[in-house]
Amino acid sequence: MSSVSLSSQLDKVQLQRYLALPQRGLCQVTYVWIDSTGEALRCKTRTLDCEPSSIEDIPEWDFAGTATYQSEGSNSDMYLIPVRMFQDPFTRDPNKLVLCEVLNFNREPTEQNTRFTCSKAMEAAQHFRPWFGMEQEYILQGMDRHPFSWPQGGFPGPQGPYNCGVGADRVFGRDIAMSHYKACMYAGVKIYGTNGESMPSQWEFQVGTCEGIEMPDHLWMARFLLHRVCEDFGVIANLDPKPVQGPWSGSGCHTNFSTEAMREEGGIKHIEDAIEKLKKRHAHHICCYDMHGGEDNKRRLTGHHVTASIDQFSAGTANRDASIRIPRCVGKDGRGYFEDRRPAANCDPYMVTEAIVRTCLLGETNSD
Ligand code: ADP
Ligand code: MN
Ligand code: MN
Ligand code: MN
Repeated sequence: MSSVSLSSQLDKVQLQRYLALPQRGLCQVTYVWIDSTGEALRCKTRTLDCEPSSIEDIPEWDFAGTATYQSEGSNSDMYLIPVRMFQDPFTRDPNKLVLCEVLNFNREPTEQNTRFTCSKAMEAAQHFRPWFGMEQEYILQGMDRHPFSWPQGGFPGPQGPYNCGVGADRVFGRDIAMSHYKACMYAGVKIYGTNGESMPSQWEFQVGTCEGIEMPDHLWMARFLLHRVCEDFGVIANLDPKPVQGPWSGSGCHTNFSTEAMREEGGIKHIEDAIEKLKKRHAHHICCYDMHGGEDNKRRLTGHHVTASIDQFSAGTANRDASIRIPRCVGKDGRGYFEDRRPAANCDPYMVTEAIVRTCLLGETNSD
């Protein structure tokens, strides 16, 4: 099998001819939602008569749940409820991408609709002004599922030269990271930055700084854009937390967090309080921090490759081997934010941010 998809090799000059056609005042809206795996994204597009000026102008829609593993054959229609609107970087203005929540035929949130309870928690914690920034790591794979550009049947040289690397032998697939970055900017996703990661063909982008429910909404749309950009290039973005066994870094989704009180003078006290609360609920958080209730992170949080052991909670200033890191400048200034290094690359950011807010701000404990 070729390592790059056939579709990516179709004649793009032809594509450009059609994409450049005027739309006669009509607007394409692509609805994006999370399917019942809780991990994969789906989308479909419809025409609106005019450009919507806000999310309220986008009508609800539905889809056949059976086709996306989301329901049984009877009562199969599921509702798509638009929650956040972005610009479409693929077909450009005036077209939109719309992130949706999924409701079942009784108009209740589906099991995978983790946004519903997350938004409740964010509302309850609104007065704390909770800010987040999430660092999404991923690897690129060819269509053969081999890490992109790795020698066939072999391995590149050991880790060391690759993190933030430059040069054809040090980073693979920069076109994708760059294209994704621009696509996020155009779409209105709050992308913070990007860098090559420790394993060759591994990358990171950060989304933030976002307040409340904006964080997981923007990260899910950033993931959609990543998969969509990769589709154009004919390769695959893989968010598995430990995609290659052996002496290779896993992929995480470090979550940076602060409240208004933490950001103000003397805020370090509030950071320490929050860490104390997180310590008491380590097991609960591990449960919420990957796609399979902590199972995926067992492969990643080994205590090696700048991770802490999954069984032990630890925290420290400038310590990248800890569960929680206080950045050096935050320790020095006595205020700022902290980084939870435990979430895995395949985490659900609705679950991660909800758990942090409930534990650190809403006083929830193990007995709740
Ligand atoms: P690292 O040094 O861990 O690699 P990055 O530079 O990759 O950190 O990412 C830093 C993240 O911290 C960004 O996502 C940014 O939005 C977030 N961040 C910065 N300041 C704050 C803050 N006060 N509260 C919450 N998140 C913050
Ligand atoms: Mn980072
Ligand atoms: Mn990283
Ligand atoms: Mn980090």
